[in-house]
Amino acid sequence: SEQLLRVDGLAVDLPAHGGTVRVVDGVSFDVPPATTVGLIGESGSGKTMTANAIIGLLPEGATTGGELRWRGDDLLRLDRARRRRLRGHEIAMIFQDPLAALNPTQTIGRQVGEILRRAGQRRDEVRRRVVELLDRAGVPEPAQRIGAYPHEFSGGMRQRAMIALALAGSPALLLADEPTTALDVTVQARILRLLRSIQQDEGLAMLLVSHDLRVVAHTAHQVVVMYAGRVAERGPTASVLARPAHPYTRALVQSVPAVRTRTALAHPLPGTPATPANRPAGCAFHPRCPLARDRCRTEQPVPRPIAPDRWTACHFAEEVPET
Ligand code: SF4
Repeated sequence: SEQLLRVDGLAVDLPAHGGTVRVVDGVSFDVPPATTVGLIGESGSGKTMTANAIIGLLPEGATTGGELRWRGDDLLRLDRARRRRLRGHEIAMIFQDPLAALNPTQTIGRQVGEILRRAGQRRDEVRRRVVELLDRAGVPEPAQRIGAYPHEFSGGMRQRAMIALALAGSPALLLADEPTTALDVTVQARILRLLRSIQQDEGLAMLLVSHDLRVVAHTAHQVVVMYAGRVAERGPTASVLARPAHPYTRALVQSVPAVRTRTALAHPLPGTPATPANRPAGCAFHPRCPLARDRCRTEQPVPRPIAPDRWTACHFAEEVPET
């Protein structure tokens, strides 16, 4: 089938202590057009590094393997100029901290307008379009706000300004890395609703990176669960959450009763997360896994299909109890 983005065996090595650490290890998944894919994991799971590889913002000294296909082109082998054009236009980003994306010395209107001008919007149309975009992002009275500076906006409003900025380049993919983590719960829900409606109305694809299963549960059509730099499980969100095929996913679902009831508080998952620098042999999850046995300690499970669109990297997925 036609994919917008195809991540195929992606590997990222970072220099560390005279050697390298493989922080992303053989990650594969697809982002189809007009679909939201949630990339979920604890810190050290490699989710943000995967996102950074897609947008070409890996740290100095990082080396990559595998392929990142964007409409057929390999992103890892594009020249810098094409890569820069892609970023902010075909692929737009929304970060946790809008202040990292917004220029503090320019008005919101000017920043959004700048992207429109670069994208070839006619000068006399720019102002109208800026107001339209701010309105689309839910900024109230947008015509009165285009002269405001980022510091004059609240946290939630800055997030909306960044969304307007992201939409200005008419992207095909929105990459949102922890877009609501810094916001309080009410604002968080509103921003997620906004992203969901924009994704649907504009027919965008969205890659939503989060440590919070609740964020992904109600927003993503498909979910990719990462652990210690690898994919543990992936598939349609509803099906994965209803019947996890990996003990780690099951533990995640159980640690967040709010996924089901929307009321209870999250309980932390027992055990210490494995990190890529300190990855156990075999299945990286084995020290925390209630189903672990000898094979798990020596043989690394590779993702295998278990149902249409569903993949798991667990030797004993068939034995994972229902939640
Ligand atoms: Fe647990 Fe073994 Fe499955 Fe890993 S492969 S998740 S240790 S049962």
